[in-house]
Amino acid sequence: MNRLKLFVNGRFVDSSAGGIEVTDPATQEVLCEVPFATADEVDRAVQGAGATFRTWREVPTPERARLLFAYQDILKKNQDDIARLLCRDTGKTWEDARGEVWRGIEVAEHACGIASLMMGETVENVARGIDTYSLVQPVGVCAGITPFNFPAMVPLWMFPLAVACGNTFVLKPSEQDPTVPNRLMELLAEAGAPEGLVQVIHGGKEQVEALLTHPDVRAVSFVGSAPVARSIYATAAANGKRVQALAGAKNHLVILPDADREQAIASLVGATCGAAGQRCMAISAAVLVGEARGWLGDLKAAMAAVRPGPWDDKGASYGPQITRAARERILGCIERGKAEGAQCLLDGSGCQVEGYPDGNWVGPTLFAGVTPEMSIYRDEIFGPVLVTSEVDTLENAIELINANPFGNGVSLFTSSGGAARRFQREIRVGQVGINIPIPVPLPFFSFTGWKDSFFGDQHVYGKEAVRFYTETKTVTARWFDAAPVERPNMTIRLG
Ligand code: NAD
Repeated sequence: MNRLKLFVNGRFVDSSAGGIEVTDPATQEVLCEVPFATADEVDRAVQGAGATFRTWREVPTPERARLLFAYQDILKKNQDDIARLLCRDTGKTWEDARGEVWRGIEVAEHACGIASLMMGETVENVARGIDTYSLVQPVGVCAGITPFNFPAMVPLWMFPLAVACGNTFVLKPSEQDPTVPNRLMELLAEAGAPEGLVQVIHGGKEQVEALLTHPDVRAVSFVGSAPVARSIYATAAANGKRVQALAGAKNHLVILPDADREQAIASLVGATCGAAGQRCMAISAAVLVGEARGWLGDLKAAMAAVRPGPWDDKGASYGPQITRAARERILGCIERGKAEGAQCLLDGSGCQVEGYPDGNWVGPTLFAGVTPEMSIYRDEIFGPVLVTSEVDTLENAIELINANPFGNGVSLFTSSGGAARRFQREIRVGQVGINIPIPVPLPFFSFTGWKDSFFGDQHVYGKEAVRFYTETKTVTARWFDAAPVERPNMTIRLG
């Protein structure tokens, strides 16, 4: 069986550790074994990143940018190849997989402009003959811990900007689909990266803890579920690291009765079921306001027309859940929803796909009459399951959403500019879509989740990520050989 390697100091190396099997989510075929790196192997990766940092931080900024130019070009040339691996490992549909790779490439492209992004500030003559200016410097060895749902995009959210800033990086990808990050490393080496610039160690909780407590790791970027994010934030911070921890979500889409009905419903279905609901920005709760309550029938019909299938089935809207365990967990959520009294209008629990009897399929599932205390409203289900609530006014919708602990994404469908403006001002969620169901910002902005969807202060990519991966040093300087300063007569003459 293919045993995955670690990527340490520019080479793919065997781990001496045991591991777990990674399976194709549509067939259960074993794809590879992923080793869980030993403590020594994690330490070697961090030490190697530390050694490379000492030379990489001296590389001129335009040269670092040149590596990123080469890398984004190679990624573009290999977009389909990476997408094929993604399809196999995650079961994503072809278009979805290509889209994921593209969203990652966009961050690598953005990192090419690092010189402008890292500019400091200057105030000349803060006192006579004295200037103050800031230098923006890399923090050192950074670590990234990434989730299963975007094995290409989320690592690319992190390491291109981190290394462009002059840092080195140790990545611990999800153990559920770990082959794409190795491919990203092959391409980084091909682009001309120095040995040890980015290291990949595989594993789970233990390997993460080794990174969080390693004295040479300065900054930790984490993306994953809420309970893990909370504990990563606490442990990393207690160990003196700066940390950004992106967490789970319950994203709402509000429909006002003046919205374009067809657009709103099509967008809602796509944002719920796309990627099998395994997106942190997927819509999982709809709020129907006033007369839009009457649109439930159309919504049910639109969801019923959607079906999952294998990645190369052009008629399939989405693929399987990542593992059997993930599928079982979702089916458990659906059962709890029924037991709690929500009305199950569409039940995808028994979904089968012809020719793929062993796939982790869940069909589109729709609940109505859902109230805030129900577990299907409170918990992140992370499957193609939509819960709907009905309210009288936009104010009621805002109150409902603001009371939810998560704050990753939200969307409003309306034709009223006034309602939209009020919504965007009052809603306590970090990423807002107006007639856009999944408002993921492009890399020149940052990915700004709020509340329990984010722990830390500087978000991933955009200007905030540059601040996260750098430290600002403020220099105040005076030169004694400068020309003597003539003093003006400051006496104020009165009268
Ligand atoms: P997860 O939390 O189970 O795992 C994420 C990473 O943490 C993996 O690398 C895993 O090995 C590691 N890990 C798991 N348990 C750990 C523990 N107890 N201690 C230390 N490390 C641990 O998440 P997942 O199931 O891989 O990904 C799905 C979750 O990620 C969803 O909740 C989704 O909303 C969230 N997510 C959020 C964003 C965002 O931008 N906010 C983006 C993508 C995914």
